[in-house]
Amino acid sequence: MAPQTQGIHHVTAISGEPQRNVDFYVGVLGMRLVKKTVNFDDPETYHLYYGDGAGSPGTIMTFFPWAHAPRGRIGAGQLIVTSFSIPATSLGYWTERLVEKGVRFEKPRDRFGETVLTFEDPDGLRTELVAAEDGRAGYREGPVPAEHSVRGLHHVALAVEATERTAKLMTDSLGFRQVAETEGRVRFAAGEGGPGALVDVVGAADFPRGAMGVGTVHHVAFRVPDEGAQLAVREEVAALGYNVTPVLDRNYFRSIYFREPGGVLFEIATDPPGFAVDEDPDHLGESLKLPPWLEKNREQIEAALPPLRVPVEESA
Ligand code: ZN
Repeated sequence: MAPQTQGIHHVTAISGEPQRNVDFYVGVLGMRLVKKTVNFDDPETYHLYYGDGAGSPGTIMTFFPWAHAPRGRIGAGQLIVTSFSIPATSLGYWTERLVEKGVRFEKPRDRFGETVLTFEDPDGLRTELVAAEDGRAGYREGPVPAEHSVRGLHHVALAVEATERTAKLMTDSLGFRQVAETEGRVRFAAGEGGPGALVDVVGAADFPRGAMGVGTVHHVAFRVPDEGAQLAVREEVAALGYNVTPVLDRNYFRSIYFREPGGVLFEIATDPPGFAVDEDPDHLGESLKLPPWLEKNREQIEAALPPLRVPVEESA
């Protein structure tokens, strides 16, 4: 049987100034900062993780804040939109909240029977809220009341010049199946399907090529239950000729990376061990966590990072 992934694990994007990033994802979208660590490949830069209360796979959005990096350009060969789900009954709450927080959004529209609000985060990252049936809990103790909280990732949209090759990789080797189609867009689902397990592939033959930088997505990670399943995917894509990395220890999950035929960087990440591996689940994200191999440089790393303040909702 072909290897399987169960949907989205996380999305990682590049932001500018870190405080502005925290202010938006916690203060506006109401997600929990579940981990404050550094980019393991560039330890003097933060790596910030947002998610539901536990940072469950499928709810995680992460950022490398590169305060001085140039703005990127959204285009072909990229993940062009990251969508979060909100309860179907919370559309009114969210339109009001976005207006109140000064976030300009486009006219709500329908996609595959669900209403979508589209806006940019403070660094120009294309983001959506999709009003959906979603049984996940979201972050229940955050700045947004539990009944309205963001439930997690809904789907991601990849823009690729030749959709067939990307589609073939997803269906033949990553466990996705086609579930819907509309003009220029095909939706795939993995595992149990539904929000958090959906990927849209958008035909981008006439799009300009994207360029990596602030306000663009760096990669999308798909989830596997364990390292065995990860190795099965690794073997499969290596046999197909993809240039796949060895298994890397990301402390909160194990990862492999390869570029899909359209140019988007894919990661396959394990569900375990998760964010409670080095921090009390009640205090996730409160202190700077470093992997064991960087602890010896803590003093120097801390000195290079700006302090961050996590917003709490001002009482009305
Ligand atoms: Zn990643």
